[in-house]
Amino acid sequence: MALEVTNEDVRSLGDGLNFAEKVQRSLELIRRAYEEYGDQMVVANSLGKDSCVVWDLAKQVSSDIRGFIVTTRFKPPETIEFMKQTVAKYPELRVYKNDQPIEDKLYLSDPDRCCDILKVQPIRQAIEEMDVACWVTGLRCTEGRTRTEFQEIEQRDKGLVKLNPILIWDEREIWQYLALYQVPVNPFYKKGYRSLGCAPCTQISYGADERSGRWIGTSKCGGECGIHTRPLTGDYQI
Ligand code: SF4
Repeated sequence: MALEVTNEDVRSLGDGLNFAEKVQRSLELIRRAYEEYGDQMVVANSLGKDSCVVWDLAKQVSSDIRGFIVTTRFKPPETIEFMKQTVAKYPELRVYKNDQPIEDKLYLSDPDRCCDILKVQPIRQAIEEMDVACWVTGLRCTEGRTRTEFQEIEQRDKGLVKLNPILIWDEREIWQYLALYQVPVNPFYKKGYRSLGCAPCTQISYGADERSGRWIGTSKCGGECGIHTRPLTGDYQI
C-alpha cells in the first residue's frame, strides 16, 4: 500500500495506543516507506534521544537503511564524541556540516539566520546528494508548542515525503524504549537536559514543555531550527 499523506487527530491517536502498539505502528510505517522508496528513504539522525529511537527502529526494519547527521561548530563536546561513536558503529550514516564563516555570535543577533546557515543548508545538501525521496524524522507532537500540528506522513516539499514515525510517542515512552532495547544515548542527558541542540542555544528546562530550554532569551525560544519549517528542496535564499 502506497504511503499517503495523513490528516489525523494525532493526540487522540496517541492516547488510544499503548507503548507496544506504538512500537509496532512505528515499525510498520518505516517498513512501508522502505518498501516503497528503498534506498531513497533516508533517516535524519540528530543524535538526540528521539533520533536514537527512530534509528534503532529503522535498523530493525533493515540494516541497509541509510541516514545522515547534521552537525555544527557549536555542538557540545559530548555530542561530538557521541557522534563519532555512532558513525563508527554505523558507517551508513553520513555527516553534513557547513563550515562557511559567519558573524560572531550570530546565534544571539539572528538565530534564525544562524540555523538557516548551519542546519537547514546542510540538510538541503544531504537531501540532494543522497537522492532522498522520503526522509524520516524523530519529531514528536508532544515535544513543545511548535510541534502539535504535524502528521505522521506529510509532503511539504515537492518530491519529498516526510515520515514522522514516532510522532505520537510521549517523552516517557522514548526513555522506556531506550531502556528496554538498551539503546545508547548521548551521556549529556545525565546533566538534566531534555532536548539537546547547539551549546549556546540549549539550557536545562523545567516544566511541561520539553523544548522550552532551546533558544532561551531570543524570539525563537522553545521554537524550531527551521528543518521542519523551511523549504528543503528547490530554490531557497538563505
Ligand atoms: S541552534 Fe543556535 S548555534 Fe546552532 S545553528 Fe541554531 S542558532 Fe546557531
